[in-house]
Amino acid sequence: MDPTQWPQPLDGTITPRFAGPVTFMRLPQIEDASILDIALLGVPFDLGTTNRPGARHGPRDIRHMSSIIRRVHPVTRIEPCRLCRVADAGDTPTNPADLMQSLSMIEDRVAEIRAKGAWTLALGGDHLVSLPILRGIAKAQPGFGPLGMVHFDAHSDTNDSYFGGMRYTHGTPFRRAIEEGLLDPKRIVQIGIRGSLFDPEDMNWAVEAGVRIIKIEEFEALGVEATIAEARRVVGDGPSYLTFDVDCLDPAFAPGTGTPEIGGLTPREAQRMLRGLRGLQIIGADVVEVAPPFDQSGGTALIGANMMFEILCLMAEARATR
Ligand code: MN
Ligand code: MN
Repeated sequence: MDPTQWPQPLDGTITPRFAGPVTFMRLPQIEDASILDIALLGVPFDLGTTNRPGARHGPRDIRHMSSIIRRVHPVTRIEPCRLCRVADAGDTPTNPADLMQSLSMIEDRVAEIRAKGAWTLALGGDHLVSLPILRGIAKAQPGFGPLGMVHFDAHSDTNDSYFGGMRYTHGTPFRRAIEEGLLDPKRIVQIGIRGSLFDPEDMNWAVEAGVRIIKIEEFEALGVEATIAEARRVVGDGPSYLTFDVDCLDPAFAPGTGTPEIGGLTPREAQRMLRGLRGLQIIGADVVEVAPPFDQSGGTALIGANMMFEILCLMAEARATR
């Protein structure tokens, strides 16, 4: 495809930003990933939620607030839609009455996209969606993994099970992903972890598996720059996933989420850390846990849209220079 023909967002200086379609950044909706480098993919699913539901409505609200975003990154000057073919690939199918079937549907859609050569940047959905996404990547590209991962979250999401043996919740995806060989625990860094525990042993499994957990207290002591350096050291140069749970942020900024934890990151700190990840091989990512029923101002969806843009710029640069 001639680069002058690549999909572009509607120009906000011509079509006002309150007009036009509700797609991410008002890009065209293109379901066929064979003509894309990066597919923006909604995953409207929240059956993994253990407390307050609503993240199934996240993709639509993030798309809505993303109409505010302009085409050029303010600091790096990256223009993701000039570096790569990017479009909104719509939503994965889900079955809101069947968790296990939904996981298969999400995995199959991601595998279909990846098999056609495109990378995925997903809009969740609760955090369980990361598991079928990682499975879909592995299915489409056998032998490619296990992947490293940069994980922003208040929670480690490496519990074993809930409610008498339920192994698939938004508190367990990365335990499953490590067990299934999708992720290399020694190349996982978790940033912003905090909040009360179910049990003093929570997170022991992850630490023993080799996951590098940077709790909020350590982040405060290190500061942004040293945290970036540590994250880069842990994930290294190999292919890596990036997952951004909006509850890593303080609920003063991002109240619209199912499991808020006070004492969190600011949006500025998160932006600075994401910008510090330039040059890493981020081959897939998601932004999860935006729950519009708790987001009366729309501010959490606005943050979700902006973090998507930060990550899109990272992925576009990684894709264009690989
Ligand atoms: Mn999470
Ligand atoms: Mn969380």
